[in-house]
Amino acid sequence: MRPLLRLRNVESRYGAFVALQHVSLIVPEGSVLALLGPNGVGKTTLLRTVSGMMAPTSGEITFDGVRIDDKPDFEITRLGLAHIPEGRAIFPTLSVRENLMMAAYATDGINGSLARVNELFPVLETRRDQIAGTLSGGEQQMLSLARAIITRPRLLMVDELSLGLAPRLVAQLFDTLDKIKQEGTTILLVEQYVRYALRLADIVVILHKGQVAFIGEPGELAHEGKLVEAYLGGSQAASATAEAEEQEGPKPRRRSSASATSGARPKRKPAGPRGSTRRSSQA
Ligand code: ATP
Repeated sequence: MRPLLRLRNVESRYGAFVALQHVSLIVPEGSVLALLGPNGVGKTTLLRTVSGMMAPTSGEITFDGVRIDDKPDFEITRLGLAHIPEGRAIFPTLSVRENLMMAAYATDGINGSLARVNELFPVLETRRDQIAGTLSGGEQQMLSLARAIITRPRLLMVDELSLGLAPRLVAQLFDTLDKIKQEGTTILLVEQYVRYALRLADIVVILHKGQVAFIGEPGELAHEGKLVEAYLGGSQAASATAEAEEQEGPKPRRRSSASATSGARPKRKPAGPRGSTRRSSQA
């Protein structure tokens, strides 16, 4: 699979504070990359930097071979990159249908397809005339996702869409993301529900203090207990290890998108949590 998104040695700052440093990674077309790490390691900043909400201070970002790190966000959206930021990306005073139409309009209505959205989110069709701000939390998250999907993005970036949702709704949300993946959409996912994220992902990247600490297949984390504990910690580490061990079990391992792209085993950063993480050699 060819690279759809590529970051090379990207740095992003908030004033003097360096939030991302030496970040290099590839998201192959058709794959799901899960970006993991505890609070404050730079996951949201990475998505913001890719989508043009903030400009990197150095490095290079390409989308399908086109340099995008110097482009404004609306141009990046037009290239086929949809970003669902943390929080609800909807217009709360408009109806469900108006929210969807606005999303389609913002991308010139190109390929906008209400039928597809209705198929993926039947509940939204039944609520099409309801004011979006009065939907339940789960329905509002579905609407955020639907607004992104209606533009038929080539790359969907999702930032903690499960935040505040009941476990049953998180499961539903991941079922929908799986359908979107099966249709061939590439996904870059930031998610605290590590187990769900690893089930969906072909590649996992762990960030630590704004740098890449690990890149590999989810199953590989089964052999990386110390690293996972050091970089994810607590319940996230336990979920990651349990899921990785399950994937390593009797069922055949999934093919690695990362290795398919690079032609090599996915790389792991050997540094300890307080050691200096080195640059990724993926990109
Ligand atoms: P979370 O899971 O809590 O959202 P994250 O991994 O997404 O965390 P970021 O939100 O990218 O982390 O934040 C990375 C670092 O940048 C943090 O130290 C954060 O305090 C800082 N930061 C984020 N936004 C800003 C901002 N607007 N101004 C200054 N610093 C910021």
